[in-house]
Amino acid sequence: MKRIGVIGGGQLAWMMGGAAESLGLELVIQTPHPTDPAVSIASDTIFAAIDDATATAKLATCCDVITFENEFINLEALQELAQQGVCFRPPLEALAPLLDKYQQRCYLDEIGLPQPDFLSLQGEVGKEELTLPGSLAKPISLSDLDFPVVLKARRHGYDGQGTFIIKDSNSLKETWQKLGHQSVILEEFIPFEQELAVIAARSLAGDVVVYPVVETQQEEQVCRRVLVPAAISPAVVTDIEKIARTLLNSLQAVGVFGIELFLTSSGKVLVNEVSPRTHNSGHFSLDACGTSQFEQQLRAVAGFPLGSPALHCEGVVMVNLLGYEYSQNDYLEKRQKLTNLPQTFVHWYGKTESRPGRKLGHVTTLLNPQQQPQADAVAQEIESLWYS
Ligand code: ADP
Repeated sequence: MKRIGVIGGGQLAWMMGGAAESLGLELVIQTPHPTDPAVSIASDTIFAAIDDATATAKLATCCDVITFENEFINLEALQELAQQGVCFRPPLEALAPLLDKYQQRCYLDEIGLPQPDFLSLQGEVGKEELTLPGSLAKPISLSDLDFPVVLKARRHGYDGQGTFIIKDSNSLKETWQKLGHQSVILEEFIPFEQELAVIAARSLAGDVVVYPVVETQQEEQVCRRVLVPAAISPAVVTDIEKIARTLLNSLQAVGVFGIELFLTSSGKVLVNEVSPRTHNSGHFSLDACGTSQFEQQLRAVAGFPLGSPALHCEGVVMVNLLGYEYSQNDYLEKRQKLTNLPQTFVHWYGKTESRPGRKLGHVTTLLNPQQQPQADAVAQEIESLWYS
């Protein structure tokens, strides 16, 4: 096993670069743009759209296995390649239930994982069809809904794009209209106490490792910072580890999966979303864990044993460096100031254009036991340097 094909060339693929080198693997990347971050670490690149399966067929001719950093793929077209013997890890059967948010929720229901109530909305104005999953199915109309609800596009959502918190039936109609009355998912709004996330990996041999549970803090539905470990009870950690193991074993997954969760005021854990790939909430692992999520992904897909996910410090703060203007600035001076903070690592994705909300890089600060209670203050210091 030498050459790994990666569908997607963003920062998640770029961050596999260091691990690939140390494991003696080469990465061949399928990505649309020459300026995408992972082009710089690829031993070869196929410039094509993520869902271009003809390009993936070409990728397959020069790789031993193909993995994903982006799930906006054309599953049916890839299934044909799999039938012809192309090896995908995670296997396409593990991706299939996850790519559409409604189907993902139905799958989580089937395997008994806790999550918000949900239904699908389709049809046309005046003839809306609201479908409840499986055994709960009963006729329901828009006026029966308990607001607020959360409306989500079923595919291609990221960083909160495609997710809308809806206060009443008028805004539901308006938002749905703006989305061209496409089929969407409606979810119960969870007034969560905390948002949590966990990274888990499953090897070809079926071993599962689970990273420390983290708290993620979102603003306008975009992740701003991650605190590690989350300040939660051991019982909640146990619940979450169980969820992660059940999910990865049910899927017969091979690779790294990111699981986002809500913690309610009564201590209940609900799954928000599963991503079949490395995830922003696991970036801290690059600087703070025995094995980063990126190395773990490569280990799993190459058929190697998994490494330790344990933290080698007391705690960590990870802050996303989001664009706040339209510019081509590389913010060298600000990055230098951030690098000068103690125990701090700056990861700059090398994107050539900044725009508001775009993930340009991230900063990780390792905390000693005395600093652990000041995690929020450390995050604030980083943000005040970045957004000043
Ligand atoms: P994306 O796939 O774009 O990341 P998510 O489904 O994770 O979208 O939603 C983005 C954010 O919206 C979440 O992190 C959370 O803050 C909020 N959110 C999503 N679903 C719900 C829900 N059912 N109840 C309350 N808030 C939600």
